[in-house]
Amino acid sequence: MQQLLELDACTQCGECLARCPVQDVTGNPAVSPPEKIRMFKEFIKSTNGLRAQLFGPKDVDKRLLEDFAKAVFECTTCGSCSQVCPVGIFTQRLWPALRKEMVRRGLGPIGVQRELPNAVSRTGNPYDRPAGQRYSPWFPEEVRISDRADIAYYAGCTGAYEAQPMVRGDVLVLARIGEAFTMLPPEEEVCCGFPLFITGQHDILEDLIKRLVNAYKARGVNILLCSCPCCVNMMTRDWPLFYGEELPFKVRHITQFVADAVKGGKLRIRKGLKERIIYHDPCYLARGVKVIEEPRTILRSIPSVELLEFERHGLDTRCCGAGGAARKVFHDNAVAMGRLTIKEATDKKADRLILSCPACYSKVNEAMQGYERQIVITDIMELIASLIK
Ligand code: SF4
Ligand code: SF4
Repeated sequence: MQQLLELDACTQCGECLARCPVQDVTGNPAVSPPEKIRMFKEFIKSTNGLRAQLFGPKDVDKRLLEDFAKAVFECTTCGSCSQVCPVGIFTQRLWPALRKEMVRRGLGPIGVQRELPNAVSRTGNPYDRPAGQRYSPWFPEEVRISDRADIAYYAGCTGAYEAQPMVRGDVLVLARIGEAFTMLPPEEEVCCGFPLFITGQHDILEDLIKRLVNAYKARGVNILLCSCPCCVNMMTRDWPLFYGEELPFKVRHITQFVADAVKGGKLRIRKGLKERIIYHDPCYLARGVKVIEEPRTILRSIPSVELLEFERHGLDTRCCGAGGAARKVFHDNAVAMGRLTIKEATDKKADRLILSCPACYSKVNEAMQGYERQIVITDIMELIASLIK
């Protein structure tokens, strides 16, 4: 209902046009928010409007429909358009709702996105990788996990399979802080549901989410930590809806927990780093759950470090190209967006680009392959773990 109101609220003012990273790299206006909204309303009118009800649905040009579907699934759901929208349309919710409706009408998802439900049902992860290998080879041998604990750590599929230095860093930093934490066995730590939610394929979400919530509840968990911003969004915003009630635990991004440990003196970074580092705010961390200061608190606590900022940072951050489950389908767009991030970081003469999201980590590393600009890319916890060894 909220989304229907938002479709009507768009005044086609065009304020958001210059913010769209996909339009930036493709030049395709079909991806822009006002155009997607206009097209969707046209489509609904032709198939469901009063005229359609009285005289039957109007035929919509097939080519036009295909182009529209492509535009809807090409968006990275970065939410940058929301940030400037004068009528406050919350696009990180609107675009997934649009996608769900497109799937219901048989107009999506696109390409490999169609394989996600089967992969998750089969192996518990969207990459269709063996569940038993979820924590290998990255899990540090020396770290002990409790069976039950107040705190649980969820590695997430992208971290566990595609950004292993990052999740290894998470676990090492948690161990150093010294509070006991639990994890589910690798076969039980299934996908949080985000890739299915964001591609409009909701059929198995309720089952997946209930399994996870009940498993953490059984371990006495009160705080669930995770370093993937997409998982954190899914857990905080959507898990309660699919679970049917408030979650029996709080969800926090790992940087929130670690920033508290730094402020409370439980984690001290003594080793210095004489470097100019630049931190990229992940869209779903900054705009999604408003975690902006915490990563900076952690990074500023490193002795001798110089922290630089991107022109667009915090709530205004520019998408690195990895979001919205679009990166595997629209690979070239994602690489082009990732290269803009690398270019700005190197233009500012940063020694190192710091990320805090496994999708950013995987995609920006990929974008650097074959690119004339090179920079050291490090996840925030990977960096901290290296300094507290
Ligand atoms: S969410 Fe991001 S990619 Fe999608 S339309 Fe808005 S600005 Fe463009
Ligand atoms: S800024 Fe908001 S109202 Fe204006 S065109 Fe974009 S989505 Fe529509």
